Amino acid sequence: MRAFIALELPEAFADEMAALVRSLSAVCEGRFVAPGNHHVTLAFLGEVGEAETRLAMDALDAACAGSGPVRLAAEGLGTFGRGRDATLWLGLRRTDELEALAGRLRAELASRGVAYDQKDFLPHVTLARRARLPRAALEGLAFPRPDEAACVTLFRSDLRPDGARYKPLYTVELG
Ligand code: ATP
Ligand code: MG
Repeated sequence: MRAFIALELPEAFADEMAALVRSLSAVCEGRFVAPGNHHVTLAFLGEVGEAETRLAMDALDAACAGSGPVRLAAEGLGTFGRGRDATLWLGLRRTDELEALAGRLRAELASRGVAYDQKDFLPHVTLARRARLPRAALEGLAFPRPDEAACVTLFRSDLRPDGARYKPLYTVELG
């Protein structure tokens, strides 16, 4: 199966994210991520078997042990890629605690021999795929207010023509 580990958004932040997406989808074309599916990927594992899945759960436990909730603060919109194939995301402040959590998780995965995508951690919430942004600046958008995330979850991702479906397999609560 295809798997990744992500921070879940707390309810208030997720609700405000849904409102932001409603405003954005009025002025921007693209395949928007359904509200409820927003998350902050900490490590993307890709294809894993049963043994690796269990090791990933151990790594999650180890990385989260003794850690409290982490603060999420929206910083602004950004894109990966260009033209018609851009991915639109909301960037989060690169705090020491977020970096440390992702770093611990990746180190615990590596020490168990579980492979993950090695790209640098850039905390963000993906909002839309194949996004086409208007030329004019986006104005008057309300970003979610800062909040604390307390759930780190191993997700299974099933790719479907109408977008990926995520299924939580294992969650560790921070604090
Ligand atoms: P789709 O690929 O159909 O657009 P998706 O990107 O939501 O759907 P996945 O590709 O399974 O679904 O990705 C799950 C999560 O992991 C997403 O947050 C995605 O941005 C992130 N992700 C995917 N591939 C990588 C990668 N190579 N490195 C880092 N993060 C990734
Ligand atoms: Mg993808």
